[in-house]
Amino acid sequence: MSIKLENISYVYSPGTAYEHHALKDVSLEIPQGQFVGIIGHTGSGKSTLIQHLNGLMKATSGKLIYEGQNIYEDGYDMKKLRTQVGLVFQYPEYQLFEVDVLSDVCFGPKNQGLSKEECEKQAREALELVGFPEKYYKQSPFELSGGQKRRVAIAGILAMHPKVLVLDEPTAVLTPQEVDELIATLKNLKEQGKTIIVITHKLREVMELADSITVIKQGKVVGNVLKKDTSERELAQMMVGRDVVLTVNNARKQQVESEIMYKAENLTTVNDYGKEVVSDMSFEVHKGEILGIAGVEGNGQSELVKLMTGLMESTRGTVFFDGEDITN
Ligand code: ADP
Ligand code: MG
Repeated sequence: MSIKLENISYVYSPGTAYEHHALKDVSLEIPQGQFVGIIGHTGSGKSTLIQHLNGLMKATSGKLIYEGQNIYEDGYDMKKLRTQVGLVFQYPEYQLFEVDVLSDVCFGPKNQGLSKEECEKQAREALELVGFPEKYYKQSPFELSGGQKRRVAIAGILAMHPKVLVLDEPTAVLTPQEVDELIATLKNLKEQGKTIIVITHKLREVMELADSITVIKQGKVVGNVLKKDTSERELAQMMVGRDVVLTVNNARKQQVESEIMYKAENLTTVNDYGKEVVSDMSFEVHKGEILGIAGVEGNGQSELVKLMTGLMESTRGTVFFDGEDITN
């Protein structure tokens, strides 16, 4: 088993004002049992690329060879391809249904025509494989944490016994602990001989997991390296196209010394349910400075931005803009 992409190009909205060449002449071979990392900046074409792997998207030109057969040939069994190459989307919500976890994971095998007992057996095995606790089997997947939802989405694909597992940015919205747990799960799956393709832009993860790494930039493959022959720095260099310094130690020293444009003091607000979502935030943004706000989803960063732009009101604290008190 192998997947081979030969000169794949993909154009969104061809012939219109929105025409966009998202993939340009991409050739790539994924041998059986390999763990392949695909990295690249946002918008470089990663999601577009992987949706070609199971036939969800059809290339504008080029060939995709799966197990020696061109999948674009007339009469090719796309249903077989879709079950053998399992795709887990970036946002697990898209793959979950409003039932309970176990029924959710049973959905795929049921679609494959298996009996209720067989479905449940495969679903339970898959949930166990991803380390999902049995006590939540009857819960709605929507009530789960980001990490648990991701597990259910992966189990839903694994329950169909795919030969290849493809994951689109699986760690993007997870907490550091959930990331470590997912990495352990993926290592476990790799040991069981699965071919795994993971998209990420986190270099540490790709270095920890992958056997080989493909770097994509503006729809083109700009690097194809074995993990053992590369480094985080080299990968970053390929992604950006120039040398980069992977250190933030001197960030303090580089703080902008121009006048203060925006200043928050003890900024606090509550959400619609009365929960305090931003608590006593104090910070300054200087003229010409770029302030990054980082945090795992659900920790108040979007509320903070709404507060800063006046879309939400504060319950406490003061805000100055260009020297003027603009609090609420
Ligand atoms: P990545 O997953 O690396 O962030 P994508 O594959 O999602 O990148 O997108 C690649 C490029 O194609 C981006 O420039 C994006 O804006 C564009 N694109 C994605 N989806 C569409 C679409 N439906 N129509 C037009 N352009 C799109
Ligand atoms: Mg993407």
